[in-house]
Amino acid sequence: PSFLEVRNLVAGYGDKIAVDGISLSIKAGEHLSLLGPSGCGKSTTLRCIAGLETPLEGEIVIDSKVVFSSAKKINVPPEKRQLSMVFQSYAIWPHMTVFENVAYGLRAHKVRGEELKQRVATALAMVGMAELVDRPATDLSGGQQQRIALARSFAVRPKAMLLDEPLSNLDARLRVRMREEIKELQHQLGLCTIYVTHDQEEAMAISDRIIVMRSGRIEQIGAPLEIYDLP
Ligand code: ADP
Ligand code: ADP
Repeated sequence: PSFLEVRNLVAGYGDKIAVDGISLSIKAGEHLSLLGPSGCGKSTTLRCIAGLETPLEGEIVIDSKVVFSSAKKINVPPEKRQLSMVFQSYAIWPHMTVFENVAYGLRAHKVRGEELKQRVATALAMVGMAELVDRPATDLSGGQQQRIALARSFAVRPKAMLLDEPLSNLDARLRVRMREEIKELQHQLGLCTIYVTHDQEEAMAISDRIIVMRSGRIEQIGAPLEIYDLP
């Protein structure tokens, strides 16, 4: 059974159509990438799944629940979709400590006290950042900040993780290292991930299946070794 279904998704900005009738299906635990050149609609697709953009048309089903339907006028808000997002810009709070950055999301999920401490510690250990727990986030490098953002994202136990070019701001060597770390996390967490990237090697390395997009449409879908003529 599929964990997530997107049917005939259309989305845009003003008169501009950014996503032009996309359908896709993801199995439980599957790691999918959306790959394609800048501007082809990857981010918009991901943001529609997350509930951060409202599609013009289509239907989105997560874990057997319709979260968006233009026909049925259903639009479940992002915080009720039980997904978490990681962005290119890290989006961590520089004035807070590493602990507070990870704890913030958990508090929003009403996790408190000893359980909060435990879950922050476990999440930080999983990204190799346990020793930095009391440091202000401003002290951290880009790679460290993105590890914190990853920890914050899975600490709340989402049903799936959506990653939008999470490594694009990092230098080439760190990108290669961190994609291995993300692969390891995928393995440990067993969650579905949807990973947006314009980097073919990154998509090949971390995906079970790749969807190649161009101009708002799907051009190819396949396992990494089945994809040809990559962008
Ligand atoms: P991406 O990394 O997804 O290619 P961009 O660098 O193109 O994103 O855009 C960065 C931000 O600017 C995003 O929040 C995007 O939604 C927004 N954006 C992109 N294109 C436009 C546009 N033509 N007008 C207004 N905002 C845009
Ligand atoms: P990708 O993630 O593949 O780079 P996007 O989904 O960010 O593509 O963008 C798809 C198209 O929509 C692009 O032409 C982009 O300029 C446009 N776009 C994205 N965000 C905005 C926005 N906030 N306002 C206007 N146009 C946007």
